[in-house]
Formats: sequence, C-alpha cells, structure tokens
Amino acid sequence: MKNIGLVTLSLILSLFIGLTLSSSTSTTDKTSESKKTVIGFSMDTLQEARWKKDRDIFVENAESLGAEVIVTSANSDDKQQIKDVETLITKKVDVIVIIPHDGKAMAKAVEMAHAAGIPVIAYDRLITESDLDLYITFDNEKVGETQAQYLVDSLPKGKKSKIVRIYGAPTDNNAKLFKSGQDRVIDKAVKDGLVEVVHEDWAENWAPGNAKKIMNAAISKNGTDIQGVLASNDGTAGGAVQVLKEEKIAGQVIVTGQDADLVAVQRIIGGQQHMTVYKPIKNIAASAAQLAHKLANGKPVIARSAIANGKIDVPSVLLEVTVVDKNNIEETIVKDGFHSKKDLGLE
Ligand code: BGC
Repeated sequence: MKNIGLVTLSLILSLFIGLTLSSSTSTTDKTSESKKTVIGFSMDTLQEARWKKDRDIFVENAESLGAEVIVTSANSDDKQQIKDVETLITKKVDVIVIIPHDGKAMAKAVEMAHAAGIPVIAYDRLITESDLDLYITFDNEKVGETQAQYLVDSLPKGKKSKIVRIYGAPTDNNAKLFKSGQDRVIDKAVKDGLVEVVHEDWAENWAPGNAKKIMNAAISKNGTDIQGVLASNDGTAGGAVQVLKEEKIAGQVIVTGQDADLVAVQRIIGGQQHMTVYKPIKNIAASAAQLAHKLANGKPVIARSAIANGKIDVPSVLLEVTVVDKNNIEETIVKDGFHSKKDLGLE
C-alpha cells in the first residue's frame, strides 16, 4: 500500500517534528476537479447523546469543505459494522472514518479498505492491530486521571472512603485508557489508606442498564455505606444515580462522569452527579472532517503524536479536555455553545 509506506516514513520523521502524512491511494481520480470527495463515516452507535453531535458537526464541516458524507451506524454490532464498511467500499468512498464498536474486530475493516486503496481514520476510539492511517481523539488517559483525582479530592476527609468503580465497554480501547488513567490516582489513594474499592466491573456496551446492575451488585455486597462512584462516563453515571436515588442516598455519594451530556449537567446542577469531563465535540468533529478531506485528496496531514496500536505507531492527533462541575458550567460548556442556559434550566 502506497500510503502505508508513506506513513511509516513519516513516522520516522515524527520522532522530532510534527508528522506529515500524505495519501494518494484513493480509488477515484482526484485530478478531476469535478469529482466530489465522498467520505464514509462508520459509527458504532448513536445511543449516547454525544454521538449525534459528533455526526452532525462532522457532516456539517465536511459539507462546508465541498465533500459528501455517507453515515452508517452499527448499533453496537461488530458484524453490522463490518457490513457497513463493505457498503462504503462498494460505494467507492475516498476515505473511511470509523468509530469502532470493537477496536480489535475493526482491524479487518482497515484491511478491506486498504485492499480497495481507501485510507482509514479512527475517530475517538483506536482500531488496534491494524495499519491504520490516522487516529484522532482526546487525551483519554487524562480523562480517567481527571475523574479519579476529582473523586479523591471530593471524598470526606479523615476516614477511609468506600468507592465503586464502573468501567466502560471492555471492547472499547478508550475504556481501558480511562481505567489506566484512573488507576494512577486510585492505586496511590488505596496505598495511602484513603480509599477502599468495594466493587468494580465493566459495563458492557457502556449501557446505563449494565451500570445500574453493577451498582446494585455493589450495594447487595456492601450495603449503602459507599462514599463515591467512579463512573467512566455520563451514561454509566446515570445508571448508578438511578440506584442511588432508589436507595435515597443520591447527592450524598460523589459521582463522576464524562461527555457533558445534557442530562448529566442537569444532574450536576441538581447535585446528584458531581463532575463530568467536557470533550469539545466541535474540535474533534471539525478536525476529523478536515483531515479526512485532506487524506482523501492526497494532501499532507500533520499529526504530532504517535500511538502504538499493537501493530504500528499510528500517527495521532490528541485534543484537550476540561473538568466541569457546578462551579464552572457557564464559563465552559455554556460559553462554548455546547448547551444553552435555557436547556440547562439556568434561565
Ligand atoms: C467515548 C466516550 C463515550 C463512550 C460511550 C468512549 O469511547 O470516548 O466519550 O461516553 O465511548 O459511548
């Protein structure tokens, strides 16, 4: 593959400088100005609120660059997502952007796209063990570290606190990165005698219903003497809070989250959740649209980082995240236009 060679070459350069990727593998003739660039966007799911924003902002930006986008959503089904990519290949798209349900299972999709000369970008979640062309994401370990640090700092002082840890989908590489960022903080807090983890588990498919089951299991095992829930995203936080409400202890237990979903920010305002991590979707979606457009047209792409995916070091773009709690809602997500004061019930 021509672009793979270029990626490898570019990676060597990237050790010291920003990385320039260039692809000329598109199956269509990009010398003809009249041919519209077509971008395939294969999404895992549209279940969490954030993914609808990702889709809408991505499509809007790609269209403003003159491209057409074909969006598919696989409903958290690996077989369906492979089929979706096959369809995009059949439709002769110029580049495929993938949000994988299972980062490992989608290595096959990268292989298929490359066999058809189509470059692939992983969006938000890494595709492991593949010759992926580019990865655009947030600093995921930092997300986990930030959640755990917020929790430890907010727990009652002067006694050992009992916490429950709810991880994300075991098929999502991000869930592992969030956990390893969290581990850095929690392992130390356990060692220092500040925290005891009374229950922990992975919420399959990130489903709030599964997070609810985990929270119920924690209470069956331990009773309601729990001071914190380290939930890895807002969806799982929502599942946990439902149980805390049923037990009449919502608000007394520190709960973390991620995504700044509208309902989660409303819970923060209401006091049942304490923080979320705001990841500006407009940054990832707009950058991904631009990068996809460039890659599709054989233009150089700059990626300053490289992330190992078990096969290669993937040229990567990492974006910053922000902690949001009840003290900074206005100057972060409201200011950014992510949610309006009206939607949040603040006016
Ligand atoms: C994303 C999170 C999201 C989760 C569940 C992760 O890969 O990074 O923002 O909450 O998937 O969809």
